[in-house]
Amino acid sequence: SPLILWFRRDLRLGDHPALAEACKADRPVIPVFILDEVEGARRAAPLWRLGLSVEAHGRALADRGSRLILRRGEALPTLRALAREIGAGAVWWTRHYEPQSIARDEAVKAGLRDDGVEAKSFPGHVLFEPWTVETKTGGPYKVYTPFWRAVRGRDPGSPYPAPGTIPAPSDWPKSDDLADWRLAAPMNRGAGIVAPHLVVGESAASHRLGDFAAHRIADYADARNDLADQGTSGLSENLTYGEISIRTVWHSGQRAREEGKAGAETFLKELVWRDFAYHLCFHTPRLTSANWREEWDAFPWKDDEGASEIHAWKRGRTGIEVVDAAMRELFVTGRMHNRARMIVASFLTKHLMTHWKVGLNWFEECLVDWDPANNALGWQWSAGSGPDATPFFRVFNPDTQAEKFDLKGEYRKRWLAELSEDPPDTALAYFDAIPRAWKMAPDDAYPEPVVGLDEGRRRALDAYEGRSF
Ligand code: FAD
Repeated sequence: SPLILWFRRDLRLGDHPALAEACKADRPVIPVFILDEVEGARRAAPLWRLGLSVEAHGRALADRGSRLILRRGEALPTLRALAREIGAGAVWWTRHYEPQSIARDEAVKAGLRDDGVEAKSFPGHVLFEPWTVETKTGGPYKVYTPFWRAVRGRDPGSPYPAPGTIPAPSDWPKSDDLADWRLAAPMNRGAGIVAPHLVVGESAASHRLGDFAAHRIADYADARNDLADQGTSGLSENLTYGEISIRTVWHSGQRAREEGKAGAETFLKELVWRDFAYHLCFHTPRLTSANWREEWDAFPWKDDEGASEIHAWKRGRTGIEVVDAAMRELFVTGRMHNRARMIVASFLTKHLMTHWKVGLNWFEECLVDWDPANNALGWQWSAGSGPDATPFFRVFNPDTQAEKFDLKGEYRKRWLAELSEDPPDTALAYFDAIPRAWKMAPDDAYPEPVVGLDEGRRRALDAYEGRSF
């Protein structure tokens, strides 16, 4: 009987354990993607970018004589109906680890088994399954460095090659038309402005890795912090939809380390931060939704989304140049430099004493590389409420950060039209992207700071010292 290969955030053919095993099973394989209660619940940019990934994956499958069947609805009833329709005896998929996915997948597993359909999950989203990395006393890790030491010498296994052919059925079930899903509709900014910054699909992701490994990994340790430089791999956009496997990226980093490329070790460590985020998410699911350190529930966080300071932060109008440059980079490109993410997160949670969830939600609205575990860990790390977090009293000074990591002011100039007579296209693109209701123009005067840097820091530290926890 046919086997349904249920794709979710694993939109690739190479190093796909479930697909590779399915192709060996000598039965027709029906690849399906469902816009369900988890995958369809994304906010604007990740939803739109997901659609592009689904489209590219459909083309890649078609090149192998297969198809990607699209359906929309709750996962369990949709899979049940499809299995009945085509007489499928099995549904296989790649495991995910955040609470919403786990709840969905458990329900699907139980429901399909009730129907007598085999339901089987496979690894592939992380390097090491979260339950296979344990401390000496048998519990999960809560601190990154010992986690890194525990996995650095481990072999995640060799990547599977992409299957040459995918066994097709004689009749294909019907599929939705991707265009009818209108996944770009929630983008309240010109998707056309963000599009040129994207690198979509498995083969583009593979080129991106090849280029990084050949030309940039050696200098990664230093270049990764330079705000104006493209010193990092850019692969988060592809990893989040599974357009490339983390294991493939890991092996590329290992090869670079063996070749003596200096930055390779630092790169591998960053890849392991991603695994650490999923490890934490699996073992303490509240990571994505509540203060990981519960004592932070008592902190006087502000969370009024209508507050002018929060508007200013989202719109790149705080009057703090590096913060505003980063928020505009986010809006135009759907991405933000890692160093900039740390700066804007510190500014929001400390200088503006705003709940990290406000920032987390805005990032989810805007980031094309939005990842539920990495985003939550990044925000909780920055706010001080997370595991192995930077202490709250370590408040980044954005100006000092800018002097250090944007020495010549290139990054700020690239994104802030108000700062120059003849602004670059990047800075002007922002004004084409924003909703008219924001009422901003490139020749506006640059705003005064929403809070003085010393005053904001003092206010945050006073609240922290007067805390009741
Ligand atoms: P590279 O430097 O080339 O690193 C390679 C890969 O390692 C990345 O693609 C990513 O998968 C992983 N990685 C690198 N740094 C981190 C990190 N600090 N934590 C976890 N994994 C890491 N990353 C996301 O993928 N999605 C998010 O939604 C996200 N939100 C963040 C929010 C905040 C507040 C902060 C501080 C960080 C966030 N990050 C997020 C982590 C990091 O900023 C991005 O992974 C990185 O900027 C992606 O660029 P790159 O692919 O060029 O990274």
